[in-house]
Amino acid sequence: MSDTKQKLREELVKYGRLMPERNLVVGKSGNLSVRVPGEDTVLITPSMIEYEVLKPEEIPLVNLEGEVLEGKTAPSTEKIMHLAVYNARKDAGAVIHAHTIYGTILGVLGKPLPPLIDEMAIRLGGQVEVAEYKLAGTPDLAQNALKGLGDRTAVFLANHGTLCCGKDLKEAFHITEFLERMSQIYVISLMIGKPNPLPEESIKFEIEVYKHLHGMK
Ligand SMILES: [Zn+2]
Repeated sequence: MSDTKQKLREELVKYGRLMPERNLVVGKSGNLSVRVPGEDTVLITPSMIEYEVLKPEEIPLVNLEGEVLEGKTAPSTEKIMHLAVYNARKDAGAVIHAHTIYGTILGVLGKPLPPLIDEMAIRLGGQVEVAEYKLAGTPDLAQNALKGLGDRTAVFLANHGTLCCGKDLKEAFHITEFLERMSQIYVISLMIGKPNPLPEESIKFEIEVYKHLHGMK
């Protein structure tokens, strides 16, 4: 096993353990993956293994078509959705699917999250959309998720959870937590009153900054 892959497998174990610890999932739910730099391959958490007991050597390596290249465990059932992001988005180095509480509430309500706070569009790329419902693990869900994601870093999956990407695992994990924080602010704001939108010119400027940071300009 190469040093790079070993390091990335250890990172997947580290961030995987943080998923239930930070209340982003319960039990085995959710999944994480990372692109191996310079290769058209992806390391992805296996299905049916608790994060707390997952060992680096149990993490399979797949190609962008989803074929297992290394490892004896079955890749996550959401493999198709992760690979759809890597195939479409060259800026995506890591992908995390979680079942966060407030993010899932917005997915259940079918309510997109508008930019509400100055830093939001810079990190998420604009309004976070809700991908149309399809059964978990299906190619149709992967296509809907990709459509909803667009050129941003996050999307809600209707009646399911969240999907976030970043340049590496640290960033994808941060985006997942940041999205949850923004979702919580939005849901509670809606319960109390009518949230004030950010000025259009601020949103426009922040999306420009986002595109610049993501090499889209
Ligand atoms: Zn899920």
